Amino acid sequence: MKIPAIFEEKKKSNKPVLSFEIFPPKKEAALKNIDETLEMLCDLHPDFISVTFGAGGSTVDNQTVEIAKKIKNTYGIEPLVHITCLHYSKQEITEILKQLEAFGIENVLALRGDVNPDIPMKHDFKYANELVSFIKSQGDFAVSGACYPETHLEAPDAITDIHNLKRKVDAGAEHLVSQLFFDNELFYDFYEKTRIAGIDVPVDAGVMPVTNRAQIERMVNICGASLPDKFARVLKKYDENKEALFDAGMAYTINQIVDLIAHDVEGVHIYTMNNPTVAKRICDGIRNLV
Ligand code: FAD
Repeated sequence: MKIPAIFEEKKKSNKPVLSFEIFPPKKEAALKNIDETLEMLCDLHPDFISVTFGAGGSTVDNQTVEIAKKIKNTYGIEPLVHITCLHYSKQEITEILKQLEAFGIENVLALRGDVNPDIPMKHDFKYANELVSFIKSQGDFAVSGACYPETHLEAPDAITDIHNLKRKVDAGAEHLVSQLFFDNELFYDFYEKTRIAGIDVPVDAGVMPVTNRAQIERMVNICGASLPDKFARVLKKYDENKEALFDAGMAYTINQIVDLIAHDVEGVHIYTMNNPTVAKRICDGIRNLV
C-alpha cells in the first residue's frame, strides 16, 4: 500500500499513522540479529517502517533493500526505502528502483544525503527535489521527503528552507517525515508555516526516544535539535543514574507523543535506533491512541 493511502485510511479512524525508522547495521554481526529486531518491531504493528540508506558506501551493500524486502514479504508491513543521491548516478538510482519494483516495494524517501569526503560525488543530483522528480519519472512510486522543524543546518533561514521544501512537494513528494525534535512547540510552528507556504501533504512528526545522555548529545550535534528546559533538567538530574535517566527519558517521549496526538498530528515517526525494547515501551504507553 502506498503511504499516502495509509494516511487516508487512518484519518477515517481519527488516529495518527504510527511508523518506525530502522537502519541496516554496519557490522556483519549485528546484521545477523536484524531478524530478531524486525520481528519484535513488527509485533508492535506500525503502519510502516522506514529503512535508512548510506550516504555512499557506509552500510553493508544493498542491505537497505534486503531489509525492506523482509519487512514487506515476511512481516506484511509496508517499508519506506530511503535513497540518497549526492554520491549516486542516475543509472545507479535506476538500478535500485528496478529492484524495488521487482520486490513490489512502492514507497521511497528521496533524500539528498550529506557529502562524504571519502567518496566521490556523482553530480547527477544536487538537491532532493531533483531526486523526487527523477523517481517519479521512473515508475509508479509514492515518494516522501525529509523536512526540518528547526530548519536544515545549511539553510540560510527558515523561510528559504520552507520554500525549498515546497520545491520537493511540487516535484511530487506526497508525504514528509520530520527530523527529530524534542520541543513540540517548534514542530507546531513549523507545521503552520508549511500550510501557509501551500504545502498540503501529511507530515510525520519525528520523535527519538531518549535512552542515554551520550546519544542525545550526539543527536543535538548532528542535527541541531534544541533541548527544552524541562528536558535539559531531566538530563541533568539523572546524569549519574543510567536506569533513572532511561525511565525519565521514556516518560518524556511518551508525554511528547501524547501531546503531539492531542494536537492532531497526522503521523508519529519513531526513530527506534534498532532498539525494540525501547519501541515496545513507548508503544505500550500510547497503545490506545494510535
Ligand atoms: P534537500 O531537501 O536537498 O535540502 C538540503 C539543503 O538544500 C537545505 O538547506 C535546503 O533548504 C536546500 N535546498 C533544497 N532544495 C534546494 C534547491 N532546489 N535549491 C537551493 N537550495 C535547496 N541521510 C542519509 O544519508 N541516509 C538516510 O537514510 C537519511 N534519512 C533521513 C531521514 C529523515 C526523515 C531526515 C530528516 C534526514 C535523513 N537523512 C539521511 C539526512 C539527510 O540526508 C540530510 O539532512 C541532508 O543534509 C539533507 O537531505 P534532504 O533530502 O533534506 O536535502
